[in-house]
Amino acid sequence: MLYHSTSNHQNTARLEQVVIKGLAPDGGLYVPDSLPHLPKAFLRNMSAMTLQEMAYAIAAYTLNSDVPADVLHDIVFDTFNFPIPLISTSRGNYVLELFHGPTMAFKDVGTRFMARLLDYYRTRHPEWPTLNVLVPTSGDTGSAVANSFLGLPGVHVYVLYPRDTINRIQRAQFATLGHNVTAVEVNGTFDDCKNLVERAFKDDELNSVMRLTSATSINYARLVPQMLYYFWAYIQLEKMHVDARNLVFAVPCSNLGNLTSGLMAQRMGLPVKRFISVENQNNIFYNYVKTGLFTPKPTQYSIAPALDAGCPTNFDRIIELLGSHDNVCRHIHAYSYNDDQIIETIQHTYHDERYLLDPHTAVAYRALGEDLQPGETGIVLATAHPAKLKNLMEDIIGESIALPDQLALFLDGKINVTKMSNGFTAFKRLLLDNA
Ligand SMILES: *Cc1c(COP(=O)(O)O)cnc(C)c1O
Repeated sequence: MLYHSTSNHQNTARLEQVVIKGLAPDGGLYVPDSLPHLPKAFLRNMSAMTLQEMAYAIAAYTLNSDVPADVLHDIVFDTFNFPIPLISTSRGNYVLELFHGPTMAFKDVGTRFMARLLDYYRTRHPEWPTLNVLVPTSGDTGSAVANSFLGLPGVHVYVLYPRDTINRIQRAQFATLGHNVTAVEVNGTFDDCKNLVERAFKDDELNSVMRLTSATSINYARLVPQMLYYFWAYIQLEKMHVDARNLVFAVPCSNLGNLTSGLMAQRMGLPVKRFISVENQNNIFYNYVKTGLFTPKPTQYSIAPALDAGCPTNFDRIIELLGSHDNVCRHIHAYSYNDDQIIETIQHTYHDERYLLDPHTAVAYRALGEDLQPGETGIVLATAHPAKLKNLMEDIIGESIALPDQLALFLDGKINVTKMSNGFTAFKRLLLDNA
């Protein structure tokens, strides 16, 4: 299978290059030339499978020409080694809990898969120099990437985070790891962190002496495993004998990677009636759906920090998948909520339904309630465990919440960070010193 760049379809690459480079050299995003269509019988046969078996069956169908079967089997089984339960709510909707992995956010799935795949390619190329993975983060991406790549030989991870706006638990999840993970505290904003990384990718001198890559959702390897849990949701409904003919997914969106994966699953034959994209006040995609104009803006901080994106990176993939603004509107209903609405939704849902939504999941939960029509089955993707933002959640509901052991362990670790200004020269020197 070949992959082409969204900027120029003539620029193609094989999966190995796609995973190593992240962004295409022409600045576009890689997409597969085609996605296989799963026969109906294939979907029906999956209802007796476990999560890992199902994930492998579909991954093998998608990537069979790219990765040997036994290797892919190990990668998939290692990625999906935690439960992804589908919870039914008292409103008759469903919540797919994607947050039971190592850092308790859905990005564990994509980053783990990417790390394992990259490791496979690296072992086939012992001559490769160290691969430096650069990740700007407002919280969740840095922790998921760092934990997925921790200890991998031949890979070094730099996590750049804004000094003043990171939450303590999230910082502990990457800044205590050490080994091949360097936590870089930037005296600046999240946009500054993003700009530093983007400049590094474009810097000729850096790229001539060291190998740099990205592990954000511009990397196609993150999107493949994320398709699989949409199928898992469907299969679980079938197992529960729930009518899944008019299926609607509500997705909390930032860089639109998760939504892109859902659209890919639909293209492969998953019967989805509609997606609901839900943003916080950084509502660039919402504005696109309403007006047809895609206008990036500076990022605004919110209480759902993983949704703070002023320029959703996967936009071009969505346009390539759906073709036109009209078609986007047919497949996707868009919503956007501010902090007050997020707080209100968490409080109501907790008091009325005894379900604690984290701020990211809350936007999707609210939108589903507003958008779902009679006769439709709605699923909310729950992307983070509420305890990841423990203090905020306690303020919102006025009760204390327990910290899962998994998160508490990180807080016991010793924080070790490299402090830096927001200037590119400082960042470049740091990278060169470690090269
Ligand atoms: C990253 C993230 C999102 C947004 O996902 P995208 O693929 O960037 O749209 C939503 N919720 C949480 C908790 C996240 O960490």
